[in-house]
Amino acid sequence: MIHDRHAISPDARAVLTINLAALRGNWSALNKVCGSAECAGVIKANAYGLGLHQITEALVAGGCRTFFVATLGEARIVREAVPGAVIYVLDGLLPGASHYYAGFDLRPCLSSLAEIQEWAAYCDATGRRLRAAVHADTGMHRLGLPPHEVEHLATSERGLFEHFEMALLMSHLACADEPDNPMNAAQRRRFDEIRTVLPTAPASLANSGGTFLGPEYHYDLVRPGIALYGGRALEGRDNPMQWVVRFQARILQVHSLGAGEPVGYGATYRTERPSRIATVACGYADGFLRALSGPSGKPGPVGFIGDYPVPVIGRVSMDLITVDVTDVPENMALRGAWVEVLGARTTIDDLTDRAGTIGYELLTRLGQRVQRTYEGA
Ligand SMILES: *Cc1c(COP(=O)(O)O)cnc(C)c1O
Repeated sequence: MIHDRHAISPDARAVLTINLAALRGNWSALNKVCGSAECAGVIKANAYGLGLHQITEALVAGGCRTFFVATLGEARIVREAVPGAVIYVLDGLLPGASHYYAGFDLRPCLSSLAEIQEWAAYCDATGRRLRAAVHADTGMHRLGLPPHEVEHLATSERGLFEHFEMALLMSHLACADEPDNPMNAAQRRRFDEIRTVLPTAPASLANSGGTFLGPEYHYDLVRPGIALYGGRALEGRDNPMQWVVRFQARILQVHSLGAGEPVGYGATYRTERPSRIATVACGYADGFLRALSGPSGKPGPVGFIGDYPVPVIGRVSMDLITVDVTDVPENMALRGAWVEVLGARTTIDDLTDRAGTIGYELLTRLGQRVQRTYEGA
């Protein structure tokens, strides 16, 4: 049920409730796991779809001081929300944009020698020794200085460090969600080698998964994202995080059907008994993925009306799903009643396992037309 009904406008058909107390709880839990290392917050992609401004303010209230965004546009929103925050931009340095980073006091994560040279030249020209992260590639081959550039920087280009301050030396793990993958230790060893040849700086390697891999992955700062929002960081392990997102949608209509009646596109589902079927106001345009459709003839994920489970049946359409409410008291499964399709009971991980995707994708695709409300501020 929705706790804070007053925050929901009467025309809302679907609502995402974001529990900021749970978010702060997750940050505190991760902060404990990483011991004396600093726990930053990764808030790229609109804070994994949940609202950059609100999520940032809540994390600051919980004690988080350092943030990682993907884009300059995101960085500006965060700078506005929290004037004192430390903000790293994972995209790195866009060509010719140094003044923009400097103007908003942003720290680019410099991923190539060319970016480092450009930043150092800007610092030299303006006479300000500005901060930045240096992002080294330890094997993922996505962003980060390749080995020969690290080597070059360490030997012939050390002078660049006189112009800018390396506030962080970072790298990123490719397989941190698989604790037994030997690539984790291999990347950590490579990172340690890089640390010995470059000037001393605070170091950071771990995302959410890496934070759970043990203290040798924590270094000076950890960068969790998905775990803050309640998603699973390690595959095949219990998820210790609290749920943060609840997705509820209203019943628009209830049908009473006999046995053997089809429901939805393709008539993939047929009632097995006399049934009441509710049509609910969320679909793939709201981020309830079409891949969550029950396999032909079988129910899909389970939503809830109060404590009553209501399986999703038939195909997910753009704006609508259908759920079986036969076992719910009639006075609870009425037009206008709310059905919880994602929350503490049917989790992000439950849904994404069924849909063959990951929590990151589900969260970042939650529809913009779904009203977001925040509780526990
Ligand atoms: C996205 C990202 C993170 C956070 O990853 P999670 O798996 O969500 O914890 C950390 N570091 C970098 C470089 C990233 O791109």
